[in-house]
Amino acid sequence: MSFDVERIRKEFPVLDQEIHGKPLAFLDSAASSQKPRAVIDAISALYSRDYANIHRGVYELSQRATRAFEASREKTRRFIGAAEAKEIVFVRGTTEAINLVAQSFGRENVGEGDEILITHMEHHSNIVPWQMLCREKGAVLRVAPIDDRGALDMEAFASLLSDRTRIVAVSHVSNALGTVNPVEEIVRLSHERGVPVLLDGAQAVPHQRVDVAALDCDFYAFSSHKLFGPSGIGVLYGKKELLEAMPPWQGGGEMILSVTFEDTVYNEIPHKFEAGTPDIGGVVGFGAALDWVEEVGYDAIHAHEQELLEYGTEALLSVPGVRIIGTAPGKAAVLSFVMDDAHPHDIGTILDGEGVAVRTGHHCAQPVMARFGVPATARASLAVYNNQRDLDALVRGLHKVREVLT
Ligand code: PMP
Repeated sequence: MSFDVERIRKEFPVLDQEIHGKPLAFLDSAASSQKPRAVIDAISALYSRDYANIHRGVYELSQRATRAFEASREKTRRFIGAAEAKEIVFVRGTTEAINLVAQSFGRENVGEGDEILITHMEHHSNIVPWQMLCREKGAVLRVAPIDDRGALDMEAFASLLSDRTRIVAVSHVSNALGTVNPVEEIVRLSHERGVPVLLDGAQAVPHQRVDVAALDCDFYAFSSHKLFGPSGIGVLYGKKELLEAMPPWQGGGEMILSVTFEDTVYNEIPHKFEAGTPDIGGVVGFGAALDWVEEVGYDAIHAHEQELLEYGTEALLSVPGVRIIGTAPGKAAVLSFVMDDAHPHDIGTILDGEGVAVRTGHHCAQPVMARFGVPATARASLAVYNNQRDLDALVRGLHKVREVLT
């Protein structure tokens, strides 16, 4: 059966509305995606019938909530091809996952004069935690360059791997440029030198199947809210041997086996890294989001998005003065652009008046903006629920921007 985007759109109640008297064209899914009815209903059902704190209660409600919570962990394991459910740590999001690795693995394994290798296209959340670690330890942050299309310079990357590199941390897909990095090659080159690799998958999982076993990465971080699930929840996948060897980074309930004032025995993974009451409803909603994605299927998602990306690229370039930033081959469905004589913030405001929601600014990737010599861009990012009408509305809006501003 051919892909029916209108049927998909009906599953997202938020899309069915007018903004400033115009049909909503939501083009900011890279920042956060909208939620299908299945996710909203799963959260509502938990709070309506099955909610209690998890893991500690012997009574029925607590057991139901625990089962629902742990079922999401198992779904996540299957979804990303991890070997064991204990390799799935629930955190607040990609940012927290990277901070966990920097503060736990990093503090144990990075010392003075050691190096951490990232790339020029990282989101701030894959730069700042490593910078903080470098400051604390006297280590050095190395940055692999990108070319004018926004593709990673792999020769430079390989030459920056050294005997002092203790971890490589790279985005799977760039949020500002859409570049899909050659992560298999990155893992292979790093492992040849015995260096573990963290992949920031925040922008990958919404668009393509990720198999951590096939990638052989050591850590993989992503957020629920970009994958049609609730915000406040995310995943750190880590290889069992690494997670087991790492110290906990936050202390509290759930992460312990026994506590006296003299000593504490830590719990097993993943609980060792899940101190305190988690976002139970968020994790259950996230499980429903994974089911939903599986049902739609990545083949359909990818094909639809790539078709729209092609359509949108041509349409954008038909607007005089528009320049697309990020043109790496095989890129994901992200269209970052600038326009002569129009500041991205003004573009965003005028588009909002037309019902078109795009992100404007530095996209938490200021080094990328500096690399391309722009202070900011406007960014239209696509998801499986977008259609050609959304892109037509964007282009109409940009003609309006030209009328008003240029
Ligand atoms: N990495 C990338 C590539 C991202 O796009 C984002 C979100 N914009 C993050 C990390 C941070 O994700 P979160 O805010 O969900 O922690």
